[in-house]
Amino acid sequence: MLESLKQTIEDNFSFRPNKNQFRDIERLTFEIMRREKIHLNQIIDYLKNNSKAAKCSGKDKFFAIKNSLLNRRFPLTTNKEKIDAKRIFLTQLKKPLLDKWQVNPIRDKSSETTTTSLMRISNGVNKEFNPLKVFVEKEVRKSYLVDNFKKMFPQVEMEELSYYSEYLKKNKFHISQLKKSIVFIVKEKWDFIKPCPCTKHHLSCGYWIFNLGFGCPFDCSYCFLQQYTNFPGLILPANLDDFFEKFDRFAGKLKKPIRIGTGEFCDSLALDDITQYSSKLIPYFKEKNVSFELKTKSTQIDNLLKIKSSPNIVISWSLNPPSIIEKEELATASLEERIEAAGKAQTAGFGVGFHFDPIIHFQDWKNQYKEVICQLYSKVKPPFAWISLGTLRSNRELKTIVESRFPQSNIFYGELLLGEDKKLRYPRFLRKEIYSKLIEWIREYDTKTLVYLCMENKEMWEILGLLRNTTAPF
Ligand code: SF4
Repeated sequence: MLESLKQTIEDNFSFRPNKNQFRDIERLTFEIMRREKIHLNQIIDYLKNNSKAAKCSGKDKFFAIKNSLLNRRFPLTTNKEKIDAKRIFLTQLKKPLLDKWQVNPIRDKSSETTTTSLMRISNGVNKEFNPLKVFVEKEVRKSYLVDNFKKMFPQVEMEELSYYSEYLKKNKFHISQLKKSIVFIVKEKWDFIKPCPCTKHHLSCGYWIFNLGFGCPFDCSYCFLQQYTNFPGLILPANLDDFFEKFDRFAGKLKKPIRIGTGEFCDSLALDDITQYSSKLIPYFKEKNVSFELKTKSTQIDNLLKIKSSPNIVISWSLNPPSIIEKEELATASLEERIEAAGKAQTAGFGVGFHFDPIIHFQDWKNQYKEVICQLYSKVKPPFAWISLGTLRSNRELKTIVESRFPQSNIFYGELLLGEDKKLRYPRFLRKEIYSKLIEWIREYDTKTLVYLCMENKEMWEILGLLRNTTAPF
């Protein structure tokens, strides 16, 4: 990637790195250039002035260069603590995908054959879903969901399959196919309800997943689904009655009310105009002793507004500053639109919740997150059902996928180190600062709403005083 780097290192430091050494130097140099928007020669000047490489020989020369690069790559962390080498993830740079299916709302009609948008675009901003093909499992061919697709997309080709996995046997999946606008309408047989897996060594908030579908018409750069998907498009179950039957049996064994929702492996409402899931879920769950959540980055609330509301039905929105939404959450509703939709849902009598997740650390994060909180409380009245906070985290493999699918994204060049659970996350002091600030800004407006952490360790909950919260979600 940085073609001239090896030679430049050799010319300036009389040192020829081996393959692994060069991988580390190249990765660190590349990330510093991206973070600081600087040229290679500025980094070489920095190394000449700051590293002890010139005075070292052999292997020591490499460590002198690497340590100087690490100090520059992780400036906040190296100021606070010595970074354990095992916590640094330095992988080989790979080329970005040149040809991928994308939801980017700018569509060039002349080049539709290679790269097509999942969204139908008019005037550059219409974010309406437009499937290319719908596969239907035979057992649900007569379902309401198939009828809905036929009515709404009469031109779209439909094909029957015994099981959606047949598609995978015939079509080898590559990550470039991820957002191809294919829909699989299926009969879910096994995976109805499960506890949120949270992550190793972290405190679970006790959430349950009502597993209604997999895949999303939006395209967030940090989305963990990219890593777990081995098929393009979206899976939409048509057999809601089976889900309800399973839940009835499951609820009989519950000793206390739980929080449960559909938004773990999909956006709960992004396609609600087609699936009409909310029209079935809300009347069912409002009679149950649970908090049922529909989590979204959309403004698809028309169906909700036609249904009699209930406070145990919580419609929640993920929030981020507009600069992050524009660059990292492609095809989603703007911050303003999300907050406006939340206000309408609240007025209609639903509980509303908010997720600051993932919170991204960047230079202007304080001003921008504070502004989001100010905007939220100026339009929607507290207390809310809950607010969750979670800083950016991911398996290391996701970083490689994001680099290939979103070469313009810089979020994985933040100060992310491998944590106890082997996930990339900001160091403890930084997460603590971020959470403390967000809680402080929230509490300026609202002392009542439950604030909890997503995928954080017990120590962090304790430091922030959240375990003493009598309304903790577990
Ligand atoms: S809205 Fe959620 S599920 Fe959809 S792409 Fe973004 S993070 Fe993934």
